[in-house]
Amino acid sequence: MALIVQKYGGDALGDKGKGRVRSPDDPLFGAQFIPEKYKHIARIVKRTREKGHQVVVTVSAMGDATDRMLAMAHSLMDKPPVRELDMLMTTGEQQSIALMALALEAAGVPARSFTGLQVGILTENLFGKARIREISTEKLSSALDEGYTPVVAGFQGTTEESELTTLGRGGSDITAVALAAAINADTCEFYKDVDGIFTTDPRICPSARKIERISFDEMLELASLGAGVLQSRSVEFAKNYDVTLHVRSYLHDEPGTLVVPEEPEMEDVVVSGVAFNRGEAKITLLGVPDRPGVAAEVFGRLGAAGILVDMIIQDIARDDDLNDISFTVSRADYDQALELAEKLREELKGSRVVGDPSIAKVSAVGVGMRSHADVASRMFKALGEAKINIQMISTSEIKISCVIDESQLEDAVRAIHVAFESDKRFVGNKD
Ligand code: ASP
Ligand code: MG
Repeated sequence: MALIVQKYGGDALGDKGKGRVRSPDDPLFGAQFIPEKYKHIARIVKRTREKGHQVVVTVSAMGDATDRMLAMAHSLMDKPPVRELDMLMTTGEQQSIALMALALEAAGVPARSFTGLQVGILTENLFGKARIREISTEKLSSALDEGYTPVVAGFQGTTEESELTTLGRGGSDITAVALAAAINADTCEFYKDVDGIFTTDPRICPSARKIERISFDEMLELASLGAGVLQSRSVEFAKNYDVTLHVRSYLHDEPGTLVVPEEPEMEDVVVSGVAFNRGEAKITLLGVPDRPGVAAEVFGRLGAAGILVDMIIQDIARDDDLNDISFTVSRADYDQALELAEKLREELKGSRVVGDPSIAKVSAVGVGMRSHADVASRMFKALGEAKINIQMISTSEIKISCVIDESQLEDAVRAIHVAFESDKRFVGNKD
């Protein structure tokens, strides 16, 4: 018998609408309750219990309920106070837990719903993105002992002063992992509309395949690079507390992908996945003075404006005491960053600013890179043969990223995947 935390997200519970409804004036606003979805989840929970396991369920708000509530708040006032936003947003999960408990009861599974406050999910005193400090396990343990399936509201907690807080968007993933750590669960399962984590996006590369086991670090790189299946902080949490994650489909009972502590054999695999990020932009400051403090000034100013910089390249091969500095930002920040770069050029008496708002980043990820020296050259060769120009390169211990023109992104993903997929050391090829 195992103790399992099961997390069901907004899409498992309702209709995400994929950006369809964002305004309270929309006639579809609020139309999101799909009873069949709750009944379906109840059947999965029941099936798990019938296998002899104990289950703790945690849920998000259904569909895009959280976005809708934010839209409501913003229709009343420009900058709503975060305390009230948290008060509002936590009602999304509170609806889900009650409805989920009802669906379970109706399916013959004794269930009890709990808010974050009731279960004792104590957070720091920060609205909108609080971190969990502590979870008391008494309520959950006694519910389990009495044969109930606890249904816990994701995404929310409470401060010592009983203020309601939320954990940041996508935060019910964190609730799930934190609960699993607190009650020492065997696995924390995430039920999704995908079969698991794939070596790359199968819509781009048909030969992509499901990964059976992956390390926390690889998952973090794949997640933050755009394969956004789990909230990054939840994966960090799982790594720190050694919680085994299982990303699987709610559409069938096949196993998905296990995210686990790194195992020695994992280093045998050269590349575990090809991740990518669209929607980036590049800015180059040409001919700025080559003296101490210039980079600090440039990136200090960008940071102060709240612009996150990803890659940075400064060339050093000039003999005129001038440097070129290139950096990438997300496309949403492009206009603001370009304006700032123009100002900096004037102040630093640089020669020119060049911007490109349509670049993308493609990355090969794998812990095996630590012990295989040829990964970079094979990746560059694959891109070269596909006639894809590499504009910038950055590397970390388990990742190599290249900036390329966005129009070539899909070709790049395929070229790199194909270059490694037949390798007997590619994920899934080892028996
Ligand atoms: N309902 C919250 C959100 O939309 C939390 C979550 O879905 O994980 O961000
Ligand atoms: Mg979510």
